[in-house]
Amino acid sequence: MAEKQTLPSKANVVIIGGGIIGCSIAYHLAKQGVKDVVVLERKQLTCGTTWHAAGLVSMLWPTPFLTQLAKYSHQLYASLEEETGQATGYREIGSLSLARTPERLEELQRTSSMASVFGVESQMINNERLTQLYPGIDTQGVIGALYIEKDGQTNPIDTTMALAKGAKLYGAKIVENIKVEEILTESGQAVGVKTEQGSMMANKVVLAGGLWSRDIAAKIGVDLPLYACEHFYVVTEDMPQLSKRPVLRDFDKGIYFKEDAGKMLVGWFEHNARGCPMSRIAEDFCFDEFPCDLEHIEQYLMNSMETFPPLQETGIRTFFNGPESFTPDNLHLLGPTPEVGNFYVACGLNSKGIGAGGGLGKLMADWIVKGYPAGDIWECDVRRHHKVQRQQAYIEARIPEALGHTYAMHWPFYQYQSGRDLLQSPVHALLQEQGACFGEVAGFERPNWFARDGIKAQYQYSYKRQNWFECYAQEHMAVRENVGIYDISSFAKFEISGPDAVSALQWVCAGDITAPAGSLTYTQWLNERGGIEADVTVSRTGDDRFLITSGIGSSTRDWWHLKKNLKGDVQLRDVSADYACLAIQGPNARAVLEGVTPTNLDAADFLFGTGRWAIVAGVEVWLQRLSYVGELGWEIFVASEQSINLLIALQQAGKSFDMCNIGLHAVNSLRLEKGFRHWGHDIGDQDNLLQAGLSFTAKPDASDFLGRDAFVSQKGAGIAERRIVQFKLNDPEPLLYHNEPIIMNGDIVGYTTSGMYGHSVGAAIAMGFVNVPQLTADVIKNADFEIEVAKTRFSARASLRGFYDPGNLRMKL
Ligand SMILES: Cc1cc2nc3c(=O)[nH]c(=O)nc-3n(C[C@H](O)[C@H](O)[C@H](O)COP(=O)(O)OP(=O)(O)OC[C@H]3O[C@@H](n4cnc5c(N)ncnc54)[C@H](O)[C@@H]3O)c2cc1C
Repeated sequence: MAEKQTLPSKANVVIIGGGIIGCSIAYHLAKQGVKDVVVLERKQLTCGTTWHAAGLVSMLWPTPFLTQLAKYSHQLYASLEEETGQATGYREIGSLSLARTPERLEELQRTSSMASVFGVESQMINNERLTQLYPGIDTQGVIGALYIEKDGQTNPIDTTMALAKGAKLYGAKIVENIKVEEILTESGQAVGVKTEQGSMMANKVVLAGGLWSRDIAAKIGVDLPLYACEHFYVVTEDMPQLSKRPVLRDFDKGIYFKEDAGKMLVGWFEHNARGCPMSRIAEDFCFDEFPCDLEHIEQYLMNSMETFPPLQETGIRTFFNGPESFTPDNLHLLGPTPEVGNFYVACGLNSKGIGAGGGLGKLMADWIVKGYPAGDIWECDVRRHHKVQRQQAYIEARIPEALGHTYAMHWPFYQYQSGRDLLQSPVHALLQEQGACFGEVAGFERPNWFARDGIKAQYQYSYKRQNWFECYAQEHMAVRENVGIYDISSFAKFEISGPDAVSALQWVCAGDITAPAGSLTYTQWLNERGGIEADVTVSRTGDDRFLITSGIGSSTRDWWHLKKNLKGDVQLRDVSADYACLAIQGPNARAVLEGVTPTNLDAADFLFGTGRWAIVAGVEVWLQRLSYVGELGWEIFVASEQSINLLIALQQAGKSFDMCNIGLHAVNSLRLEKGFRHWGHDIGDQDNLLQAGLSFTAKPDASDFLGRDAFVSQKGAGIAERRIVQFKLNDPEPLLYHNEPIIMNGDIVGYTTSGMYGHSVGAAIAMGFVNVPQLTADVIKNADFEIEVAKTRFSARASLRGFYDPGNLRMKL
């Protein structure tokens, strides 16, 4: 038994877990000069999941910032030996990804286009080149491949040891064989840890405990949605003929191949992945593994022999099955937790922790030192999940499916099958009867489109027009030309009330929210650096009462932002489930509503941008005149229990107008035609109001607010160094989703952040940041723009304003 080391009495930062992530954070903190950094490892360094990783280190990730961090991992692993004297085993060997279907080929082509905008060199290659790069491969059925020359592989244990050695060289202390039993908190702040050997105080606590992280955090009320799954590979006997070669991914079979010291490692992401409850992880787990169920893996082994026939003549030396923790969306869980101060997490690595480790260590160290991340990391932010997505039943259902999805097709609009129906609108069943096809966001089921004309309410996925294209075209045009109704009960809704409600909320909002009751304010919440933390509507429903609405995807984040920043005598309530919300939009919206309300809806009486308590269909509602789709329309907030009757009455009143049920896909294309931004896709906390084209919403002369100084100085500096621009393809055929390169005068200048088909403008539309300084409307007018779709460039019109009704006249009819 290993000897126990002594526990220091206090630390500046204590890191729980000595896997690659904990060691990388310690290395980066210590290297930055942070004193008293201590890593506590319950057994031995790397003994959890790190030791048995296959060691693939990919360059290309799904977002630009994650890709930037991955590139940094490569550089670091290549240079650590020189810095620490400990070899990492890192090698730049390249990677190949195979396509066996036209759809996969398009996916890889789109990936290659995305790579170019994220600064990663890649090329599509034919089978001749494939065979040169991968001798022995059977190319039958392969119709193309993506080659990334600079991808790498590393030795996970050696790399972690190099990070640990570096951390110690810079002054960090690493203590093995001490288990943290509990995180200590005082007044909602982490203040240290309790271990088998007593307690240790710390200014900051970082949890990098791999698959143990959920249980550790749960003890202090932080629910981390991660769950271990079994993860397999086999390693062959020596294969004397095996030359050095790139990593090979055969996505359609779910398999990867890695040559390692003359042997072949074959691993996979099986579609029927198996979860692994913590009860299966032994208390003294240390370099442990599970038995390998041959029946479960047989098909993958057979398939690998077809792709690489030399395996048929080789024995298998190791059958490996070990646990790794995964998350519901296959992305890490990072950052400070809102529930407990001075407590950071870095876990849920989804079988990518070795590749991610270097970059994540740097990201986390910077975040801990500066208080904010160095780039847009929202996709991995620990605040992104709704509380229903942190429940045990949900993670056990969803996470194995998420693992199985890793090598599956990443279809646009893809919907998971498991863990559904957690949150439903009160009108869900009624809309389902009427043909709604639901999609899930943050656990909430939302009608995305309505089945009509004999089409089933089920997605048939494609990169081209999917089965619902015509349905949503009808919905889109109904809003533009007639009237449509849609359910947006998924909105996060927060009520703020009390004597200090106005001043407290004004401090959070960049817009002026002090206008009298009945006013609506579209505003952003900024951080100290002027970055956009949230994009919300503030409805003043009474003198001392406000209703905030924002997207379900950011509800946890927005809630905690308010909790942290509202000061004074003010009450904050989450009323999301108390109210349903129906929107009625389109040129005939007034006529339909007039049939069910005595309220005067005339343009002069019910002004755009105002709201009031009103009776609609005999029910008291908050009725506000606003539009996210750019038409005449109202949003109706109604007590949940009365929403079905209200919807039935509205649909009855709409019958003579042929009012159409609208899904959220149409809402998305309608808002894109208008150029309305979506927080989390188009804008985020790394973008300021000027860059986002939203500076008109801020009112720095009216009042002080969080981020005001930063905004004023950004405004004083003139035109932003990058700006959000709208695009419309000139060719009506191709479809845009997001992450397509934007080309200006032949150079890549950015990428799309959202894209849909604009049915009223007759082509795909998108928006995205163009990273060119001094980008005025004139410059745009005189430039040639293209958008690259699956390696082909299509000419596009560009505009700083939306393509549909840029003067916003229709909303004010
Ligand atoms: C079969 C397989 C193949 C893989 N292949 C790859 C690959 O090719 N590329 C890639 O990038 N990734 C791969 N991975 C994933 C990679 O191994 C993980 O993502 C990574 O190791 C996670 O590192 P970690 O530091 O978060 O977790 P861990 O390595 O599990 O470290 C967490 C540590 O915390 C310690 N700990 C837990 N609780 C406590 C406590 N209470 N007190 C003190 N210490 C505690 C544990 O003992 C453990 O050492 C693979 C994983 C598997 C299973």
